[in-house]
Amino acid sequence: MAAGPNSETGMATRAREAAPGIGELPNYVGGRFEVTGSLFDDVTPVSGAVVSRVHEADSALVDAAVHAARGAFESAWRPMPTAKRCALLHKVADGIEARFDDFLAAEVADTGKPASIARQIDIPRGAANFRLFANLMETAGTDCFEMDTPDGRGALNYSVREPHGVVGVIAPWNLPLLLLTWKVAPALASGNTVIAKPSEETPVTATLLAEVMDAVGVPPGVFNVVHGFGPNSAGEWLSRHPGIDALTFTGESRTGAAIMKAAADTVKPLSFELGGKNAAVVFADADFDAAIEGTARSVFANCGQVCLCSERVYVERPIFERFVAALKAQAEALVPADPWANDCTLGPLISAEHRTKVLGYYDLAKNEGAEVVTGGGVQDFGDARDAGCYVQPTIWTGLPDSARTVREEVFGPVCHVAPFDSEDEAIARANDSDYGLATAIWTRDLSRAHRVARRIEAGICWVNCWFLRDLRTPFGGVKLSGIGREGGLHSLNFYAEQKNICVKL
Ligand code: NAD
Repeated sequence: MAAGPNSETGMATRAREAAPGIGELPNYVGGRFEVTGSLFDDVTPVSGAVVSRVHEADSALVDAAVHAARGAFESAWRPMPTAKRCALLHKVADGIEARFDDFLAAEVADTGKPASIARQIDIPRGAANFRLFANLMETAGTDCFEMDTPDGRGALNYSVREPHGVVGVIAPWNLPLLLLTWKVAPALASGNTVIAKPSEETPVTATLLAEVMDAVGVPPGVFNVVHGFGPNSAGEWLSRHPGIDALTFTGESRTGAAIMKAAADTVKPLSFELGGKNAAVVFADADFDAAIEGTARSVFANCGQVCLCSERVYVERPIFERFVAALKAQAEALVPADPWANDCTLGPLISAEHRTKVLGYYDLAKNEGAEVVTGGGVQDFGDARDAGCYVQPTIWTGLPDSARTVREEVFGPVCHVAPFDSEDEAIARANDSDYGLATAIWTRDLSRAHRVARRIEAGICWVNCWFLRDLRTPFGGVKLSGIGREGGLHSLNFYAEQKNICVKL
């Protein structure tokens, strides 16, 4: 059922304003804000309060989104000159920046992350993703080869990028706007139309993005948002849909496996950015203070809910005790607070369900024989924070590498710290994982840094830093951490097929 025509923008905002704290979020299909009457709650982990009620897309609405996206691809978006398409994407970036405070408020309410982080990272990156890929699309070249032929006249081979058509984007909750736009922007820049399914935990900024697209004149059907869950809901229906030409997904590895199975019958390009159990390797010659500060950030940022977070820290034995003590001090200095408080450095976990999972690992670690250096449970604040999904930042030592808590992704503010005695041992233990997303190496020895980085089984290796990234670089993981690379031209290569045209001269 249509909630209103194209001109009826601002629905997510107005809905939230109409009943402060509880409004309704529509889907956005074919340029119309659509309600279904089947509502689920969007809850803030800060207090457990319902912040909005979300209209879950049914399978008919997902079909309608695919139909609208196909129509818009053929009639509006693919034929549009690249420069005009990219100018519109810059307007989308302008639109996000113009409504910065709305996006910020939505992201903080949905995730509970410190407002200072969302202000510095999540929302600016949401806009920057559109600018980056619009600029790149306008300047990206393709291959061209002249070849000899027996008649001496030769031939010219050149390749062109052809958009796939309709791209499905399925996103997680930890960096909702940043990760959604990381895929939506290059997909649109490449000439595809998009159906986005945000996480059911964090549906608001995707809806605000639809409002921005609508307001700046992105043609109806080019960008669509369907709300819902995974299995037997919008996520699965998109994955199975024969009208979806390519699928890009960020989330858990086992969800990636389910999507791969669902998509198999209609053989389509897949890009997967999945989970991690990332290692940090700290050599005794490292700049100690930088290694401590960087490792603490890599363990506790966003309450440990970043796919790149370190959950396994290997420290060369001569500095092990000192390192554990200093990391403990960093953990205990974190300030769990309301995300809008200026001093907040630790927000809650995303949901009560996720907190139960993380606390399950806290208990499991004790059963597996961990020494709990700090944390290991829930704070007793004696104030409003007790209603939120906060947990103590936690450090374990003393676990064998075979422990489940050393092998499985917890996705909370926690790490295990273990000593090592040689470079070979450190590399072998860092690589002893089903995952392979990112590793941080801390050393002042440049030769060793290069040597170790080359032998690490991961898509990303940091040396003396963490989370530092030029958006043009390849991003992705090996093993259970993903398939493919996105970022810069790597994204453009995924979001389009390269066709070779050979012209006999
Ligand atoms: P998740 O896999 O539970 O959900 C992600 C999205 O997939 C959601 O929109 C969800 O509704 C949907 N989904 C769930 N089951 C589905 C199914 N069967 N079919 C289709 N869609 C389905 O992940 P999450 O809990 O939202 O996010 C946390 C995970 O994401 C962690 O494992 C983290 O490491 C990973 N992650 C990876 C990266 C990366 O770049 N590698 C980045 C961020 C997060």
